[in-house]
Amino acid sequence: MPPPTGRLAPTPSGFLHLGNARSFLLAWLWARSAGGRVIMRVEDIDLPRCRPMFRRQALSDLLWLGLDWDAGPRPDDLPGPFDQSTRFEQYRLALDQLVQAGRAYPCVCSRKDIEEATRAPHGDEGAVYPGTCRGRFATFAEAAERSGTTPAWRFAFGDKPISFHDGLQGPVLAHPRDLGDFVLWRKDGLPSYQIAVTVDDAAMGISQVLRGKDLLLSTARQLALYEALGLKAPTQWAHVPLLLSQDERRLAKRDGDLSLKALRDQGVAPARMLGLCAYSCGLLGELRQATLGELTQGFKLSRLGQADFTLTQEHLAWLLG
Ligand code: GLU
Repeated sequence: MPPPTGRLAPTPSGFLHLGNARSFLLAWLWARSAGGRVIMRVEDIDLPRCRPMFRRQALSDLLWLGLDWDAGPRPDDLPGPFDQSTRFEQYRLALDQLVQAGRAYPCVCSRKDIEEATRAPHGDEGAVYPGTCRGRFATFAEAAERSGTTPAWRFAFGDKPISFHDGLQGPVLAHPRDLGDFVLWRKDGLPSYQIAVTVDDAAMGISQVLRGKDLLLSTARQLALYEALGLKAPTQWAHVPLLLSQDERRLAKRDGDLSLKALRDQGVAPARMLGLCAYSCGLLGELRQATLGELTQGFKLSRLGQADFTLTQEHLAWLLG
């Protein structure tokens, strides 16, 4: 098998936190330990929430940790071909292709409509879309005119179940009816995560994707999109456990005190950050400082634990030395 091409795909809508650092470290280790390439892609489609300052800080934090990349921007570069905000035209072409093929339809439902319509089976992304607008309008213009709103575009899922092998979670089987026709293009004129990530992973030659397990079922959605678009999908997937804060919540960007920036500002050394990340996912048997070199050498996906990890006060005290 040729060496893999992996990617780091930060979203610059806030400062990166320890949980992000952990997922990016693992993605980097998986690719580098097999002699692979790493691409940096900035996922800034959410224009109103993303900021140049967060982008610069995220790229600088990852380099500080020692994670490097073979293609993609440096912290001070202006947005270019590896920043999603510059690539809307590519996503639009993909959408047009799906529309032509009858695999996308305009949807005028609001979030509230969907919640109310479904008495909803809830999936990984909230209420599963019941397909209300599928076949309802002949054209986008008609949907806009009859509803008096700007429609979204949704993917018309086929009925074939989608299966893939996850390097950590094992075989995954997802049925379209449990996923629902998902949004390709939002009402507010922005492309969706699913279409952007699919187009980009194909365009950037990504063969290996490692990310948090909250995105496990997004992989099924993306595989359906690769097939509908006739694009080559990544072949290696791994969805890793999450890092939880003390109250058992998933870490979020608003957990500012656990941002890499705040920890750096408090003098935390990369070797401690790497040590805690590695320990928290089972790569180290004890909490100690670690180097990227030793983690790369000993890396095997199968050594990662399956359980989410809760950060305690003791872990944080150790981190701060
Ligand atoms: N941009 C996402 C994040 O920062 C990652 C999405 C992906 O890896 O597909 O969590």
